Amino acid sequence: MLRIPCPICGERDYTEFRYGGDARKRRPIHGTTGLQVWYDYVFVFDNVMGPHREFWQHVAGCRQWLVLDRNTATNLVGASQLARSVVTVDEVITK
Ligand SMILES: [Zn+2]
Repeated sequence: MLRIPCPICGERDYTEFRYGGDARKRRPIHGTTGLQVWYDYVFVFDNVMGPHREFWQHVAGCRQWLVLDRNTATNLVGASQLARSVVTVDEVITK
């Protein structure tokens, strides 16, 4: 059973959360990138086997977005933090 540590609510069952995608990808800034960058951001995904950093939303709890370290091969869960404290404007792709 996968248990996810929410920084606000504590450890909860994964059924309370919604997977939100790869947290290593950064959303391009509107108007500063080409269509290929947006296509890659929206439709191209890595199929990672092993350590991975992911977005999850605690939909049945505090509704906050989290960044969670999880090993996709073993399903072992590491640390989590609020996404708003991890993702900054400086990390946005500016191609
Ligand atoms: Zn929560």
